Amino acid sequence: MTKFLLISEDSGKEEVIKNTFSSDEVITCTDEVMIFDILKVEDPDIVIVDGDIEKPDLKHLCRKIKQFPVITILIMGEKEHNKDITHNINLFIKTPIDSKLLTAAVESSLRTRQSLLKMTKSNQELAASLYQLNVLYNTSSQLAGTLDKDKLVKIMIEGIEKSLNFELSCTLIFRSEREPVLIINSLYKVSERLLEALKLRAILSYKSLLSDPPFDIKIGNLKIEKNIKHNIQEYDFSVLRFDNLFAPIVLNDDFFGFTEIYRENPFSTEDATVFQTLVRQVAIPLQSASFTQELKATNQKLQKLERLKSEFISIVSHELRTPLTAIKNAMDIILSGKAGEMTENIEKFVSMGKRNAIRLSGIINDLLDISKIEAGKMDFKFELMHVEPVIEYVKNNLLEVAKEKGLSIQFNPSEDNVEVYADSNRLEQVLTNLVSNAIKFTQKGDIEISTKVVNARELHYDQCFEEDIKKLQGNYLQVCVTDHGIGIERKDLNHVFDKFAQIENSLSRKVGGTGLGLPIARQLMEAHNGAIWCDSEINKGSKFYFVIPIANDKSNFVMIRKQLAQKARSNGSTLAVIKIKSTNETIEKLLRENNLLNKTYMANSLIEKEGMMTTLSLILMDGDKPSAEFLHKKIDSVIEQNKDLYGKCDIMYSYEIEGDTHEKDSYSG
Ligand code: ADP
Repeated sequence: MTKFLLISEDSGKEEVIKNTFSSDEVITCTDEVMIFDILKVEDPDIVIVDGDIEKPDLKHLCRKIKQFPVITILIMGEKEHNKDITHNINLFIKTPIDSKLLTAAVESSLRTRQSLLKMTKSNQELAASLYQLNVLYNTSSQLAGTLDKDKLVKIMIEGIEKSLNFELSCTLIFRSEREPVLIINSLYKVSERLLEALKLRAILSYKSLLSDPPFDIKIGNLKIEKNIKHNIQEYDFSVLRFDNLFAPIVLNDDFFGFTEIYRENPFSTEDATVFQTLVRQVAIPLQSASFTQELKATNQKLQKLERLKSEFISIVSHELRTPLTAIKNAMDIILSGKAGEMTENIEKFVSMGKRNAIRLSGIINDLLDISKIEAGKMDFKFELMHVEPVIEYVKNNLLEVAKEKGLSIQFNPSEDNVEVYADSNRLEQVLTNLVSNAIKFTQKGDIEISTKVVNARELHYDQCFEEDIKKLQGNYLQVCVTDHGIGIERKDLNHVFDKFAQIENSLSRKVGGTGLGLPIARQLMEAHNGAIWCDSEINKGSKFYFVIPIANDKSNFVMIRKQLAQKARSNGSTLAVIKIKSTNETIEKLLRENNLLNKTYMANSLIEKEGMMTTLSLILMDGDKPSAEFLHKKIDSVIEQNKDLYGKCDIMYSYEIEGDTHEKDSYSG
């Protein structure tokens, strides 16, 4: 049956139309308000407008009818109709009305309307699918951006809400292995009774999904999180009668939870597919999030174990050191003869005991050092220094031991006479280890120590040391200890720097040792922003190299950064940057990022309040600005006059290097 709306006051025309479409429904109306109500409520298929009506205004009426999805036919009367009217009309019939013509016109219009309606419907469906696809795409890109479980679930629920418009959703997830949470997103408030029912339903679903649930969820241990949109109304059990969709969040055999949504309007099959796709998408990032959580937990456990181990070594070593010192002292007294006469035999055995006590104390010191380094508690006293005197000292110390084996030690210093920023005791420790090893693993031939200035780009090293050396930049002082001893096989080159490593050969076993000397040396060199490595040929000898950045070298900004950090960490005191207008933003930023910078002072205010400097451990100031020269002098004199107060305060001047925007700052001691 076709529905007509006839807008005419002419009863003659009304009669013709009613007779022509006697088996259809014809509603007649001329009241403007009513016309539009009928259009909205009755949704007629065809509107026939009498062109002769006086009221309402024909032009205005036709324009408004055009906004509804109906076919409009105009009965042309006496009046001339201008374009404003004809433009909004689909068909025209003349008066007197020819019933046959009218029927034919209506039939063709109806067919047109049908196709139009179909097209509108497919357009709407297409738009809806496009929208859902868009939501799906956005949701999946958001899901890829986080590993936070709560955020992942939030993104998934938002995606479902946008594409499916649900009224209530319940999602079960596990924040951690034993922490189930039921997340409820609802349009309106949820009554207590409904909440209990939803909890129970979630627990039952959980148990029915997993034949052997790893964790028993009960009402008591199920956490609830409610997100309510509007507080104006309350949902009760009636919601459970709404249409619903349910999907578990699973990936292979891993179960992460499930989600269920309720909506008063029934869901279509397409809706169910979209829902499943969205839920499936969250499973992959949830699995990664769980892995990350597990990894973090294991990491923390490992770190704790490592700490405990270091503490244990440190305590045991301390405990061993005290009685050992007493033993050594007692032996010294015996050997000095103060405890009474000694036979030659007794002296021989006590000396042997003393040698071993000294060796044992060396081992304990190594253990203590390595545990301190690993715990980040090693103290360093960095200062500007020359390495050559330290080398001379070590050489003289070990000359006797070398001579006993018929070996000699040569030292060839570089003529460059450069300074490094280093801890002399630690350098001595590294050198002693290298030269002792050279003596230990050499039967005959000289041992040579040499120094030279090198650029990081010119260094020669085996591929296995790439990691240690590639981070070096700029100019370094290189120290090399060469021996002509048993050598090291290529495959073992890097391993000699591993903790407790001793290369399998008869000499290693015979001479003994802890395998800690070289790993300690490597860590100490790292703390100096240098590197250590070796080169060797079996049965020909070895070369052990280490490099330390040259202090006055403007290309060593990287080193300065690290030293600043170490400095602040080692004495836990204030680090300040003194600003001369725009001092050195790179360094300032770096220090701030590492929580090392407590304050920034303007240079003048600092000079004015001289007392302030006592609280600083390090002053960093811009070296190139013209005003800096005056400030250098001023600060130097302040420090000179108040040596007691400012003794602990170091000054670093930083410079800009022309043309290098990346690492633009440098240092001069
Ligand atoms: P230690 O000498 O106490 O065993 P190190 O860490 O100093 O511990 O050295 C580890 C191992 O590296 C030595 O046991 C030895 O096998 C090898 N090694 C070190 N220096 C040399 C060298 N100059 N020549 C040959 N092998 C060496």
